[in-house]
Amino acid sequence: MNKTRADYFTKARRVISGGVNSPVRAWKSVGGNPVFVSHAKGSKIYDVSGKEYIDYVLSWGPMILGHAHREVIKAIINSAKNGTSFGAPTEVETRMARLISSALPSIELLRMTSSGTEAAMTAIRLARGVTGRNLIVKFDGCYHGHSDSLLTKAGSGLATFGIPDSPGVPEELARQTLSLPYNDINVLEKIINQYGSQIAAVIVEPVAGNMGVVPPRGGFLEKLRKLTSLKGIVLIFDEVITGFRFTFGGYQNLIGIRPDLTCLGKIIGGGMPVGAVGGKKEIMEKLAPTGDIYQAGTLSGNPLAMSAGIATLNVLKTKKDAFPDLDKKTDRLCTDLENLFAENGFAVCINRVHSMFTVFFQKGPVYDLNTAQKSDKKMFARFFHGMLKNGVWLAPSQYEAGFISFAHTEKDINKTIDACSKTLRNLRRAH
Ligand SMILES: *Cc1c(COP(=O)(O)O)cnc(C)c1O
Repeated sequence: MNKTRADYFTKARRVISGGVNSPVRAWKSVGGNPVFVSHAKGSKIYDVSGKEYIDYVLSWGPMILGHAHREVIKAIINSAKNGTSFGAPTEVETRMARLISSALPSIELLRMTSSGTEAAMTAIRLARGVTGRNLIVKFDGCYHGHSDSLLTKAGSGLATFGIPDSPGVPEELARQTLSLPYNDINVLEKIINQYGSQIAAVIVEPVAGNMGVVPPRGGFLEKLRKLTSLKGIVLIFDEVITGFRFTFGGYQNLIGIRPDLTCLGKIIGGGMPVGAVGGKKEIMEKLAPTGDIYQAGTLSGNPLAMSAGIATLNVLKTKKDAFPDLDKKTDRLCTDLENLFAENGFAVCINRVHSMFTVFFQKGPVYDLNTAQKSDKKMFARFFHGMLKNGVWLAPSQYEAGFISFAHTEKDINKTIDACSKTLRNLRRAH
């Protein structure tokens, strides 16, 4: 007899905490048993029963070239033949660093890590180390990995100190993090004026992607740059998602803002475990061994990860002028979806920034965490399962970004629209 999804998940749960190695994969917010993947190629992902799906998750962002891209796989195989880890400097690390800093002018020096979490954690430590201050400012709904200082949420009231977002994060530490509403220039100004001399860093997703896609309002990031410069606060752009997603570089290239530090991950690893933190020389050289701020990693700069990353970035470089095609594809998808929802009588708000998008099940507008949370999560869950049945793989949560890759074709978009049409007809019938 064929094994069911429940069989796979039950087996996994016996040996893996929650059955998954990262929580959102367990589908808690949409219900049901997660699909187990067997392989993926281009814009498609396949489950263990052989069913094909058009993939809009793309491993949560990294696979901008599509899955199993020829050049990337070739680079990984060739690299693996020469050994998989040395714990000593290699020339590929220098090549990777040069590629990244050539694309992001704000990055004068960088350090590779094995995840975005480590990159953000290192950025925070650096900021505290160089400023001698403790407070961190972040924004509600932005995610910067799961390190203690960044796993905090706003307390009650706007201008309060953070409270732990998870048991195990000491309150004393959470209180060192202030969480402010995204896109609210007034609150930002007030807090920086009040606490500026105690604030080490402000960390922000320049385009928020972890409460669903929320673009920065005009002037928000500009104001942030101005205020942080004025008070000697380290400005950290977390471009783990946005790095190389919109252009050959970061979102900072598009808006002409230079953060002091930048966090990268996801795309720059081409699907291998990677992160990077980089920025101003005077800050970055404070890291050990030149400085005394400690940071390390046994597998940092791993040759397989560097090779996959270099191959990905090199292909992206040749596609420099093709990024607008990605935008166009995404725009068409979102416009057609919008029309379909309207025709079927569903109120949705679709936020799109270039090739990132989220369909919020509400009339909108969505410009911060509060407004994002007005979405109808139950309706989203039903939509998610309907789309999956019709061969479209969306993130299993209302508060995630959808992504398009260079491998997605017009035909994929058409099929997605058809799947959506079928799904909405069924949802309406069930209403
Ligand atoms: C994914 C993500 C991270 C964490 O990266 P990991 O590699 O999962 O540790 C940090 N910041 C942002 C904006 C992210 O989207």
